[in-house]
Amino acid sequence: METGGSLAHTIRKPTLTPKAIIHQKFGSKASYKVEEVEEPTQNGCPGLAILQKGPCLYRCSLELPDFSVVSGSFKKKKDAEQSAAQMALEKLGIRPSVDNLTAEEAWTDLIARVKYIFSNEFLSGLHPLSSHFKAALCRVGDHDGSIPASVIAICDGKLNNLCKIINPKVESHPFMVVSYIMRAATGLPELVVNPERQLSIRKENPYPPDVIESSVSQQSESITTMAIYIPCSPEKAVEPVILNISPKGYYLDVIAQKLGLSDANEILISRTIGKASSETRFYFAASKSYLLEMSSDLLNAKAVKFGGPLNARASYICGQDIYGDSILASIGYTWKGQDLFHEDVTLQSYYRMLISKIPSGAYKLSREAILAAELPLTFTTKTNWRGSYPREILCSFCRQHWLLEPVFSTSSIPKKASLELSRLNKKLKVSESAEQEVEYANGHDIVDADAKSVGMGSSFICEVKLYSKCQDLILECASNVLYKKQNDAVQNASLKVLSWLNAYFKDIDMPLEKLKQLANVFDIKFYPQNFSKEVVSCLSVENFQNHDTLGGKVPESNGISIPNDVVEDDVSSIDIEGPDSGVCPSYGSLLCVCYSASLVTKGELQKELLESAEEFEFEMGTGAVIPCLEAVVTKMSIGQSTCFYTELPSQDLVLAAAKDSANALAFLSSPCWLEYSIILLQVTEPPEDRMEQALFSPPLSKQRVEYALQHIKDSCATSLVDFGCGSGSLLESLLDYPTSLETIVGVDLSKKSLSRAAKVLHSKLTMMSDPEAPCKSIKSAVLYDGSITDFDSRLCGFDLGTCLEVIEHMEEDQACLFGDVVLSSFRPKILIVSTPNYEYNVILQRSNITSQEDDPEEKIYSQSCKFRNHDHKFEWTREQFNHWASELAVRHNYSVEFSGVGGSADLEPGFASQIAVFRRVFQPKEDDLHDDEGLACQYRVVWEWNRSKPALTN
Ligand code: SAH
Ligand code: MG
Repeated sequence: METGGSLAHTIRKPTLTPKAIIHQKFGSKASYKVEEVEEPTQNGCPGLAILQKGPCLYRCSLELPDFSVVSGSFKKKKDAEQSAAQMALEKLGIRPSVDNLTAEEAWTDLIARVKYIFSNEFLSGLHPLSSHFKAALCRVGDHDGSIPASVIAICDGKLNNLCKIINPKVESHPFMVVSYIMRAATGLPELVVNPERQLSIRKENPYPPDVIESSVSQQSESITTMAIYIPCSPEKAVEPVILNISPKGYYLDVIAQKLGLSDANEILISRTIGKASSETRFYFAASKSYLLEMSSDLLNAKAVKFGGPLNARASYICGQDIYGDSILASIGYTWKGQDLFHEDVTLQSYYRMLISKIPSGAYKLSREAILAAELPLTFTTKTNWRGSYPREILCSFCRQHWLLEPVFSTSSIPKKASLELSRLNKKLKVSESAEQEVEYANGHDIVDADAKSVGMGSSFICEVKLYSKCQDLILECASNVLYKKQNDAVQNASLKVLSWLNAYFKDIDMPLEKLKQLANVFDIKFYPQNFSKEVVSCLSVENFQNHDTLGGKVPESNGISIPNDVVEDDVSSIDIEGPDSGVCPSYGSLLCVCYSASLVTKGELQKELLESAEEFEFEMGTGAVIPCLEAVVTKMSIGQSTCFYTELPSQDLVLAAAKDSANALAFLSSPCWLEYSIILLQVTEPPEDRMEQALFSPPLSKQRVEYALQHIKDSCATSLVDFGCGSGSLLESLLDYPTSLETIVGVDLSKKSLSRAAKVLHSKLTMMSDPEAPCKSIKSAVLYDGSITDFDSRLCGFDLGTCLEVIEHMEEDQACLFGDVVLSSFRPKILIVSTPNYEYNVILQRSNITSQEDDPEEKIYSQSCKFRNHDHKFEWTREQFNHWASELAVRHNYSVEFSGVGGSADLEPGFASQIAVFRRVFQPKEDDLHDDEGLACQYRVVWEWNRSKPALTN
């Protein structure tokens, strides 16, 4: 069996941040002020003649009572704050302390700490444990002033840390702390350890009366709070219980009594559940043999077995073994004051804790859409993600399962190396038309999550590792997918781990082999021993969910008739109401729906609303909602509504959604369905390039570059102008390949795009200055700000002109004007024009092609298709494009051929991007060239690069 490596020296236990230490020392006396700083802009692109707004930087000043410090400038506010705090600590001469105690020293410290806790001084201080002591002073009968050892164990962090040094097993067996406290107390003459196998301690001599008087501040009102009783036997239902705490009562005694115990001295208390600030814990009876089982060898004490039957449900939620019947309550003394904090734990909150244990449950909760949302399978862009980010969910998963925080390591790989990498990892596919010396890297792995981001030619990969608290490696996820943004790499890696964990939780009986296969799919390597020890250990208990009353399935007996529109996978029969507006969702669209989900009984006699939202947004095609909801909305257009039924999901989910648990339970005891009603409110179209990437491999944009390359090679072009170059994606890509090009020029009228293009080209050209670089032939590069419908003599007589996916962004008459200007005045030898093929949209927008072939009124259907991008002014059919190009060619003495990328010429509806290649028919004499125009310079140079003087500034 494989075992995970240990990283004893690479990861330290989480230490306090400088800010946390300052907070401990100064509390509210430390005041942070963060301000934005205007840094002189270094846009990294000498010569760029477009004003740049520098990245926003922050500086933090920290004022302490005696002095203040000011940090340097940082990109993130929190980094500035931490830096200021660190500077202050250095001034104060404080270094984060590293405990280097030996076990023996820790034991001595532990005895001293226990002694101190029972001191007069401690009683009058402010500490959650002091509040317990004060309350315990009023306990009735013999117990007055005695304190359950389990309370000391949960309230005092210092004791816990000392115990972990004495015996690292305490980390996974926290109840051992109770035993160590009891032992320490036994050795102290001033303390009395209750002899009768009770876990309580009190002082031999009472506190002096004046100390008692000054510190006892009783609560004046009784407290009523709701808790949950979780019987050990999974057959028995989980039920709410009411805790009534009278002004004189000690709340732990009240809980103990609910558990059938005489008082709190026999109680054990779990660690907290959920958020760090929470006071939610499990309470249960300590086994009678508990104390006797402590080995006398202090340092090698074994983890104690409690003997009693494991409470599977409680242990599952807690991530810690809980024995016998148990109470889940949110109550306790805190640092905030002497009052008893309490909060109801309802059945609904219990079920929410249950489902939040698995990644998809945590995601659903973060979206407040338990029945409708699912953990998406892919992270496309930050803007389309809703709910907690994968990274956050993974971090909280680790916290919940008592693992170390996940360790992310991202590395940035220069573009050239990243091409190599993807070539090594996937076998290189050389496209058939390509000759050997032109290297076509297989671009499938290069996910241009944001093709417009300024990548500066590098990409990111991210590796995630999960470790147990004892620093055993549990799993690692390392994929070779490259992302342009670091954040995308981190989120995607986190999502992979979550998806795998999720698959596991959904089928925990999965054979190891299958689990391993699945891990491969997600680029995960896991260490079964450590995984089962840390994550699986208390999961065998999940079976209890299957025993649960209804198990989530509607009984098929008693002749209940299924409503016509119960859908699981088949949505063909559902009725959609309202006129077809023609605006329908497609892959990658962002949808906004109004929905409600209700329980309905047979015959729809009764209905109980479970959840609803006026506006709920999700991204299509990522599995971000339950599958049938996604399937249903593909049938709808904006403004339409529908209602459909599904079988019930698991009972846990229903109860986690239901506000009225009792009512929901009553529904669940009779046959019922889940009714969804949906209105499609809004569809935000997917960015064109994302869709192109999702549906084509290599992505369409890449195929266009490859197409242009072929023409550069075939024509031995030395000069190229890219009309409407945008962010320079074509020009940038060309630099990756050896060509005959010496001059490259781009024109666009978007300054934002031109700035990006300049930066990308600048960094690439300077990085690739070595004589062996593929683009070594390039002598000059220029970017112009101007409209391609205007003439500028500097663009005359180029070998090759490209105009990729640009004309559809202009009005049709402007597109015609552009055609005339280019072919009559610029007159490149070859002009390549690409534009979307409108007829292809059917395929892009409705991946469900079969239903369209069945549709007799196919024409009408395709009429309802819209454009691929909001900025498109038109999209032409093949006929329209042929017409435009052929007339243009004839007018200016060019020949024209039609072709395309994505799809095929012979297969309906043709290519996804249609392309016209114009060739100049005869060579005009230089003088004939621009008679009318003369030397017009209408474009503005925004950036210029020359190999001879690369850092030219203007
Ligand atoms: N060719 C690029 C960009 C396509 S997007 C690529 O394939 O990635 C269309 C571009 O055309 C936009 O950058 C837009 O600014 C530009 N554009 C639109 N009308 C223009 C005009 N009249 N003159 C110059 N550029 C124009
Ligand atoms: Mg376009």
